[in-house]
Amino acid sequence: MGATDSNQIPHGIRWVCQCIHPPILLAIYDRTGRIEIKVGDRYYIAQDRMQAACPRCGAWHTLEVRGPTGRT
Ligand SMILES: [Zn+2]
Repeated sequence: MGATDSNQIPHGIRWVCQCIHPPILLAIYDRTGRIEIKVGDRYYIAQDRMQAACPRCGAWHTLEVRGPTGRT
């Protein structure tokens, strides 16, 4: 009961651009729709949807996370 984990994302999924190997990490998200992206020294938090440009190839990517309740 003494867990003192800070702000770790459970089951974080890596969102990457695969323009090179190893792939460039764009952000980390989870199935609840929480998206965490690091730009320089800052963290940005988004919900459900995020656009990001790969710092390597400059391509824009769109991430959409479906929540656990799959309503249309
Ligand atoms: Zn890229």
